[in-house]
Amino acid sequence: MAVSRNTRQRNAILRVLQSTKSHPTADWVYQQVRQEIPKISLGTVYRNLRLLSEKEQILELNYGSTFSRFDGNPNNHYHFVCRICGAVYDVELPLVRELDVKVSGDTGFKVENHRLEFYGICNPCLAAQNTAGAERNTARG
Ligand code: ZN
Ligand code: MN
Repeated sequence: MAVSRNTRQRNAILRVLQSTKSHPTADWVYQQVRQEIPKISLGTVYRNLRLLSEKEQILELNYGSTFSRFDGNPNNHYHFVCRICGAVYDVELPLVRELDVKVSGDTGFKVENHRLEFYGICNPCLAAQNTAGAERNTARG
C-alpha cells in the first residue's frame, strides 16, 4: 500500500522532532523537514504539528507571548527555561503526583494533568556571565 503524501509529511515532521532534545520552534522544524521534502510549506508544518499535538504524539509547549516550542516526547515531563538564551531543557524529575492528589482533595476537581516549569539561567549562559565578569575584573586589573 502506498503511503499517502500527508502521512509521509507527518512522519517526517515527527522524526525530526524525535531526533532532537532542543524543543524547537515550528520554523526550525520546517527548515529541517525541507531538507527531506523540499516542497513542503510552513503552513503544512504548522497544521501537522497541531494534528500531532491533538493526537498526543508530541507536546506543544506554549510560553505565552513567545513562539510555541515542540517536543517529540508526548509524556508529561518538566522543563527548565533559560531566561537569557530561551533554551528549553528537560528536567529529570519524576512527576509529582502528590500535587494532583492534593488539588483533587482540596477542590473535589478531577485533576487530569499538571504543568510545572522552572525558570532561570542555564549552564552555558552562567559560564558566559562568569567569563564576562572575569574579563571585566582583568581589565580593571
Ligand atoms: Zn541559557
Ligand atoms: Mn521535553
